[in-house]
Amino acid sequence: MTEARVVQTVTGRVAPGALGRTLIHEHVLVGFPGWNLDALAPRFVRAEAMGRAVDQMHELRGLGVGTFVDPCPMDLGRDVEFLAELAQKSGMQIVCTTGAYFEAEGITHTFRHLPLEEIAAIYIKEITEGIGDTGIRAGAVKIATGAHAISGYERKLVQAGARAARETGVPLISHTQEASCGHEQIDLVTGEGVPAGRLVVGHSDGIDDHAYHRSLAERGAFVGFDRFGIALIVSDEVRVENVLKLARAGFTRNILLSHDSISCWQGRPVPFANRHEDVLAMLPDWRPTTILKKIVPQLRAGGLGDDDIATMLVDNPRRLFTEA
Ligand SMILES: [Zn+2]
Repeated sequence: MTEARVVQTVTGRVAPGALGRTLIHEHVLVGFPGWNLDALAPRFVRAEAMGRAVDQMHELRGLGVGTFVDPCPMDLGRDVEFLAELAQKSGMQIVCTTGAYFEAEGITHTFRHLPLEEIAAIYIKEITEGIGDTGIRAGAVKIATGAHAISGYERKLVQAGARAARETGVPLISHTQEASCGHEQIDLVTGEGVPAGRLVVGHSDGIDDHAYHRSLAERGAFVGFDRFGIALIVSDEVRVENVLKLARAGFTRNILLSHDSISCWQGRPVPFANRHEDVLAMLPDWRPTTILKKIVPQLRAGGLGDDDIATMLVDNPRRLFTEA
């Protein structure tokens, strides 16, 4: 274990012990590729978005959250200068990532033609030197795969991400679609020499399948219960029940909790909603305060103690960022 390893935030390095309560998968800004071409979408007003994001960070700090990890893929409207300004204004420690989204929803053209080695080099550059000319460094690698099968393009990017993680020591945070291909992600990452314990298999809570969750944890990966509030996929009651099952099976040290919330959309949010307010009306608990306000009490009622809660919200994120 290398506890001396530092964690790179958008405003500089912090000691792992200073992360505190950490939300491992949330977003400030998201815009799907082409969002800026949609002249009919609500206009993105930067100052309004910043104001809303600062308010949200203040509320989270009031709930004891010390670190907000925003694994926005580089092709989904990532704006690390926005994040740095937000961190300075709010006092929240924010971690951003390098790495691109899955083939169906990302920008594939450039990376489709680049060889794996060059993509890994791009990721490493963003981790060690910074993103563009900003000097703001990525603190983790985002990897992403589609539903039920990994395309050749996605395989190349996951392998490139794993190589970058191996070379730099940062962890990997994944997107899975329909809670599928978690084992294939572990296979690819470990195949590049990165231990499974450096990977969060994201969005694994999207299926009511304890055996799947347990099988990921048994391989040493972190299991992302990171979409609390998105009741369209599964209900939070189901998520809570599956967290409790995994904890009771002895895998509390493999559980990470988050919401995959989005503070401000660039362009139209999702196919079924034109405005941010419409999304929140449909999914009222899809905000990054839900876990601390509503879910932790349910986990306690289900038999977990304060030490278990601290393991999931404090110790596990710290171990993800530090353990070799
Ligand atoms: Zn996400």
